[in-house]
Amino acid sequence: MKVVLASRNKHKIAELQALLEKHIPEIEILSLDDVGFHDEIVEDGNNFEENAFIKARAAASTGYIGLGDDSGLSVRALGGEPGIYSARYAGEHGDDGANNRKLLKNLEDKDDRHAEFVCCIACVYPEDLSKGLFCRGVTEGVIIDEYKGKGGFGYDPLFYYEPMGKTFAEMTAEEKNSISHRGKAIELLAKELGQRTQN
Ligand code: IMP
Repeated sequence: MKVVLASRNKHKIAELQALLEKHIPEIEILSLDDVGFHDEIVEDGNNFEENAFIKARAAASTGYIGLGDDSGLSVRALGGEPGIYSARYAGEHGDDGANNRKLLKNLEDKDDRHAEFVCCIACVYPEDLSKGLFCRGVTEGVIIDEYKGKGGFGYDPLFYYEPMGKTFAEMTAEEKNSISHRGKAIELLAKELGQRTQN
């Protein structure tokens, strides 16, 4: 079963391949480059679902099953910020240090530290590009004041997961995958794609 993930990031492709093939051994995740899709995809949705769908639909326009994902951090005291702007909260795309500093600054006077990581994966089948199927994973935690841990990326060192008593950056990849928003969304996706292989 060949599936195109709307990404050119080899690390993301390999990670999804490793997680999905545990459930569906015959799966093969292709990148946009693998299928010769070179157009720019404009992610102008208003929420995680819309952005994931825009990407999945573009990937499915190649004739393969298309997947698109969008994820981010939603902080209650900040009205859901940074949300879909998580990667470029401080301005420049992917500047994790600046994003984390801005997050701590905006939370300086806030007692409510509840936050959730959200991952939405949309799946679009090539026979109907108008419809998306959505796999959503959410993990709740709190934003702490100092950085803890060296692993992971993004907001991981500030995101404390109470049931394990550590931040995402203090977890092994296996630990994080077992409880993360992305791990949960991929679990749902594996069920959906698994059903498709049986039909
Ligand atoms: P993407 O949609 O997976 O590219 O994620 C968008 C942004 O959300 C990232 O650049 C990070 O800032 C943040 N983010 C998403 N997932 C995680 C995570 O597991 N840990 C830390 N930050 C994350």
